[in-house]
Amino acid sequence: MRRKLAAGNWKMNGLGANLAEIGKLTKLHRTPVCDIMIAPPATIITSALVEAGDHALAIGGQDCHAATSGAHTGDISAEMLRDAGAGYVILGHSERRADHGETDEVVRAKTEAAHAAGLVAVVCVGETLHHRQTNSTLHVVGTQLAESLPNGVSGANTVVAYEPVWAIGTGEVATLDQIAEVHDFIRAELKTRFGDEADAIRVLYGGSVKPTNAAEIFAVSNVDGALVGGASLKAEDFSGIIAALETA
Ligand code: PEP
Repeated sequence: MRRKLAAGNWKMNGLGANLAEIGKLTKLHRTPVCDIMIAPPATIITSALVEAGDHALAIGGQDCHAATSGAHTGDISAEMLRDAGAGYVILGHSERRADHGETDEVVRAKTEAAHAAGLVAVVCVGETLHHRQTNSTLHVVGTQLAESLPNGVSGANTVVAYEPVWAIGTGEVATLDQIAEVHDFIRAELKTRFGDEADAIRVLYGGSVKPTNAAEIFAVSNVDGALVGGASLKAEDFSGIIAALETA
C-alpha cells in the first residue's frame, strides 16, 4: 500500500512572514495519515523546518544542480538541500524545463544527484496543450519517464508527478478520464522498467488542484496524491486538499 503524499510547491513565493502558514498547517493536521511536503524557496528552508518543529511535515527543494559542488554560481546542490534539512526535491518541473531549457538528460542527472544525497526526487512529467491536441500525450510522457528516470529508482527515493503543462496555474484541470488514462499508463511504464518495485512508487497529479476538486481527483485509480502550486500557499486551502487525501 502506497502512503499518499500531498506536496506543495511554493515556487518563487514566500518570505519569512509566510512561514506562519506552515505553523498553521501543522496545527490543522497534528497527526496526518498521509505524507505532507512543502517546497518553499531555498532561502527559507531552514526556517521552515524550525516552524514545523517536531511535526512530520517534510520540507523540499524546488530544484538542485547535478554536481555536488563547484563553479556554478547561483546553483544549489542536492547535498546542500539535504544539509539544510530538506527531505525531498522537485525536479523537471515544466517551469524549469521551459525557463531553463532543462532536458530529460539534465533531469536524469539531477535525479541521480538527489538519490546520491539521500533526497526523495519528485520527478515531473507532462504534456503541453499542443501535445494533447495532436494526440501525442502518452508518447511525450513515456519519453520523459524513460529518459528522466535513472536506474535505481525505488518507491523510497522517487515520486513521479504527472502535471499537464496546460493545467498548471491556469485553473484548467484535466478531466478524470484524462488523469486516469495517463496515471494508468505511467504505472504500466514503471512496472515494465522497474518490475514489482513500481508498485511502491507514488504517482501524483498536479495542475490546478483545489480543495473543491481534490476529492474527485483522489478517487481516480493510481493517483497517490497531488503536487499543488497556488493552493499550497495558504494553510486553509492546502488543508482542504490534505483532508480530501486523508479520506480518499
Ligand atoms: C505546480 O506548480 O506544480 C502546480 C501544479 O501549480 P498549480 O497547482 O498552481 O496549478
